[in-house]
Amino acid sequence: MKLITAITVLFMLLPPNPFDSKWAGAYYYDLNFYWCTSHSSCVHEIGHYLDDMGGMVSQSEGFIEATKELVEVFPGEESNPYTNKTMELYAHIYEIADGNPLRLPSSLSQFYDWDLGKIYIDKLTYDH
Ligand SMILES: [Zn+2]
Repeated sequence: MKLITAITVLFMLLPPNPFDSKWAGAYYYDLNFYWCTSHSSCVHEIGHYLDDMGGMVSQSEGFIEATKELVEVFPGEESNPYTNKTMELYAHIYEIADGNPLRLPSSLSQFYDWDLGKIYIDKLTYDH
C-alpha cells in the first residue's frame, strides 16, 4: 500500500503536473497514466491514450495525410515540449468529438478506437 502511494506521489510530481496551473491535464506516454481537471481535458487525455494504445496513430502516414490541411491551421501547443503538433491534433479531434464517432467525418473517425475510448469516458466521475 505504501508503495502504491509513493508511485502515485511520484506521478503527481512528473512534469507537467497538476500543481502547475498551466496544464489542465496530461498523459504520460510509456506509463499509460493520465490526470485531468475537467470533462474536456479528460476526453483530450483519453485521446492521447488511444493514440498510444493504437501504436501512435497520430504519427502514421494515413493520419498525417488525412489531416495535412488541418494541421496547418491548428495552433497546437507549440509551447508543449512533451508532444508534437500531430499528437496534439489527434487528441484535440477526439476532444471535439467528445468520444462520439458520429461527430466526425469518416475520413477522421476511422483513426480512433471508439469502443476503448468509451470505456474510459464512461468511467469519468466528477466532484459536484
Ligand atoms: Zn494534449
